[in-house]
Amino acid sequence: MALQLHSPVNQIKGVGDKYLQIFNKNGISSVFDLLLHFPALYIDFSQAAAGVEMGVKKLYRLEVNNFNLARHFGRRLSILKVNAHIGTDKVQVVFFNKHYLVDFFKEHKQAYIYGTFEMRDKTCQANTPLVFSLTDPEREPATPLYDKIGALKSGVLKKIIDNALRELQDTFEPLPQRILQQYAFPGIATALKAVHFPRQYEPGQVQKLKQRFIYNEFLLFQLELQYIRNFFKKVPRIHRYKIDKNLKAVIKELLPFKLTPDQKTACREMTADLEKDVAMQRLLQGDVGTGKTAVAFIALLTAAYSDFQGAFLAPTEILAQQHFINAQKFFNPLNAKGGAVITCDILTGSTPAKERERIRRQLADGTIHIIFGTHALLNESIGFKNLAMVIIDEQHRFGVSQRAALYYKGKAVDLLVATATPIPRTMLLSLYNDLSVSIIKTKPRGRLPIMTKIMDVARRDEFYHWLRKKIQGEEGEKAYIILPLIEDSEFFTELRSIESEAGYFKDIFKDIPMGIISGRLSSVEKDAAIEDFAAGKIRVLVSTTVIEVGIDVKDAAIMVIENADRYGLSQLHQLRGRVGRGERQSHCYLFPSPNITESGQRRLQTVAATEDGFKIAEIDLKMRGGGIITGLEQSGYLDFRVGDMRDDHEIFNDCRRDAAAILADPGLQNEYLINFLAGIKGKLKELNFS
Ligand code: ADP
Ligand code: MG
Repeated sequence: MALQLHSPVNQIKGVGDKYLQIFNKNGISSVFDLLLHFPALYIDFSQAAAGVEMGVKKLYRLEVNNFNLARHFGRRLSILKVNAHIGTDKVQVVFFNKHYLVDFFKEHKQAYIYGTFEMRDKTCQANTPLVFSLTDPEREPATPLYDKIGALKSGVLKKIIDNALRELQDTFEPLPQRILQQYAFPGIATALKAVHFPRQYEPGQVQKLKQRFIYNEFLLFQLELQYIRNFFKKVPRIHRYKIDKNLKAVIKELLPFKLTPDQKTACREMTADLEKDVAMQRLLQGDVGTGKTAVAFIALLTAAYSDFQGAFLAPTEILAQQHFINAQKFFNPLNAKGGAVITCDILTGSTPAKERERIRRQLADGTIHIIFGTHALLNESIGFKNLAMVIIDEQHRFGVSQRAALYYKGKAVDLLVATATPIPRTMLLSLYNDLSVSIIKTKPRGRLPIMTKIMDVARRDEFYHWLRKKIQGEEGEKAYIILPLIEDSEFFTELRSIESEAGYFKDIFKDIPMGIISGRLSSVEKDAAIEDFAAGKIRVLVSTTVIEVGIDVKDAAIMVIENADRYGLSQLHQLRGRVGRGERQSHCYLFPSPNITESGQRRLQTVAATEDGFKIAEIDLKMRGGGIITGLEQSGYLDFRVGDMRDDHEIFNDCRRDAAAILADPGLQNEYLINFLAGIKGKLKELNFS
């Protein structure tokens, strides 16, 4: 049977149950899904550089003179130094923890390496580059290298993808003919073959091919977005809120602080929306720590006060839990004083079945007024008595259709979308051009600026011993320590991982309670660690970036970020935003990687120099690229598989325009798009706003 793009991935030769499981776990079910896993880089063996070019990642042909291996068992570290020539340039290539390469260099006096040279101690040095033998009969002139998918490494993936492309017979084409012509895009099967196996690697050519897929992805996103938008536009108001003097008094009494002027403005804009004859669609944009939650709670209170239900959708269990706890504190005084009782509850993926059933019942009969939760709230079985107010926090983690799904749970609900990502104005327009926007710029008063410092990796031990004293001492500090990886990576050997550093930290902080969270833990375990950290039972929290979004522990004032240069600017800013939330003086310590690049350096300097999220986002947009690892860098913009809103902003805007034209003129739709739109229409059909 001929292999087609929509065939299940296990129809590819070489994909058995074991690989299928790994693929499925990583969101890959069809042949097409797999083929969208583009090479992370290409090595063109015909293009080895003749001499060293400093600071640029390149392929070099190495003539080895001698080498030496030093092992440090205590620190579980081995350093292999290879002295060699490239053309007439004398160089040194250093490998960390790659002692098995000794055998390779015993056998090979020549080799290709792919890496970057920089001057260190007056020596021209490359740190742990990739190594290839000169002769490999199976190798094509240009070889793709892939990021791992689960445990599947580049070599295995290359074979499977090769098999798929060899057998692929497909006339399928999602893009209309006119678009292909207009942009001079190749057909989809041709493009896939050329991206995975370019006969010769020409960066410009591959980039052009990738644009086709980026365009494709953005176009479908825009079609769905605009279709749903058009549908929701001007939904007549059903819910009439009681917005009166008494409500204002209640809000004032419940709030533990005075609203900032920006918060007040946002509330005023929101209230004005709620008094209009169409449902609210408002985006609440504000940097981390500006106090968006208070505005959201006021929205929910307004709904409950008017005898309607409210829902708060958070991107992670941790956040849902945290908001729920805060909400109980916020609404409880009212309950205690015998005022109108407001019942809050929480529903997530880990809510036990019995609990879930009770909550389902109480949402349907209106016993629960305000529900917090994750996408578990979107489950079909969940229905409301009279849902009127929906808050979506950190919305970029949710797809448009998920947003719509919650929307359907009520009739003509009012929607408030809160985002912590300071999306630059230009991009904001292309994403939310028909949402009204409230912006919170200033942070609550009394906050001290966060002191950000770029550290010297050579003095890392010294730093952590000092940190231990700070935590044990009278100040009783709490610290976050962020590492980029869960386990060591074969490509990026200079990155520290939780797995390899856990022992080190246990040693340093031996008498201090410490929590370690990573993507590997169940969400219950993660929540428990964060709760313990908030309560002070844990004083050091070692984590990957899972804590990036929204965690609020007021008395945690120290943030340490390892391999800090490997994060995007916005992500660094988000991470730093976890501290500086209380009265304490906060500090953020950035440890660079040993082989930090110039652009990495610039990123760290930028973050150290300013705390203004909008400014950082603008700079981020300008200096994108250069040393940021894809996959590590989920900096909070919409997650696309191939495209990136910042790199590919022009394509995004093309798609916005083209999608509008395609929706307006059915003559522009091909069979695929007609089906695609019919699918969305199907999802929306059940709705009845009258
Ligand atoms: P974000 O905008 O990042 O969601 P939060 O809503 O979590 O920010 O607020 C950050 C912190 O600031 C919280 O601890 C909150 O209690 C506090 N906060 C919010 N508004 C004010 C205010 N007007 N005055 C003082 N503290 C405030
Ligand atoms: Mg928040």
